[in-house]
Amino acid sequence: MAIDAAPPPSGGHDHDICVADALAAAEAICHSRGARLTAVRRRVLELVWSGHRPVGAYDVLAALAPQGRPAAPPTVYRALDFLIEQGLIHRIASLNAFVGCAHPEAAHAGQFLICLGCREVSEFDDPAITADVARRAAARGFTVSAQNLEVTGLCLHCRDGEARPAP
Ligand SMILES: [Zn+2]
Ligand SMILES: [Zn+2]
Ligand SMILES: [Zn+2]
Repeated sequence: MAIDAAPPPSGGHDHDICVADALAAAEAICHSRGARLTAVRRRVLELVWSGHRPVGAYDVLAALAPQGRPAAPPTVYRALDFLIEQGLIHRIASLNAFVGCAHPEAAHAGQFLICLGCREVSEFDDPAITADVARRAAARGFTVSAQNLEVTGLCLHCRDGEARPAP
């Protein structure tokens, strides 16, 4: 199934709903798989979902630090690894940062449109693109282990020069 829902804009939507939906989906998915969404994993997921812009590991560490007990970096990295394994977040390699997945129910390769203006990332998942890349790789004897196609450019709002409110 192709995922091609229009991404929510940074402003003009109730982002609390995005966060609540993401946390509810994560709980249901982890429960169905027997995976444990511990308090720290849940909190890290919530922090990654603070907006539709990728969040770096250091941002997560910094956000956890003022809460009394600073999180040890390995704890945060393990939590991020867990969230990636469960398909709840994606790593955007070109930004060395993480973004929440709005469609974590099924494993998928993602195609990501990354705005160089506002850093917002929108994801779609077109199985035809994924299959085509796999087919071309196989033709060269290349075994694909993961596909994250990162496309950089300008989003509609940045192209038109509109100021965008922070999510
Ligand atoms: Zn949102
Ligand atoms: Zn995704
Ligand atoms: Zn933009």
